[in-house]
Amino acid sequence: MNCPRCASDKIVKNGHRHGKQSYLCRDCHRQFRQNPTPQGYSADVKDLCVKMSLNGMGFRGIERVTGINHNSVINWVRQAEAAISDENYEIPETAQLDELQTFVGAKKTKFGSGLS
Ligand SMILES: [Zn+2]
Repeated sequence: MNCPRCASDKIVKNGHRHGKQSYLCRDCHRQFRQNPTPQGYSADVKDLCVKMSLNGMGFRGIERVTGINHNSVINWVRQAEAAISDENYEIPETAQLDELQTFVGAKKTKFGSGLS
């Protein structure tokens, strides 16, 4: 095992942190754990995994492509689905566009009649 910062092999055990063996590098004094669990991926990575799932990719397929545990992907998709239902995103985009065009048209008509 080597230090993740300076790659030194002068590693000593340094007690336990949150139930995991902690180590200390004698050279740069960095503390670290043997198997640090990734504490969160970037929003881009989450977004990509959610999109792959929504496009019909299985969770294990996503895991094979991205290397991210399928349980993490399942959690993200559930979070995304919860967020979508909260914000009423089930309204189709085309309906929103039609409403916008109707609104702009009505505004123009009103403006013109008001001036004359
Ligand atoms: Zn080090």
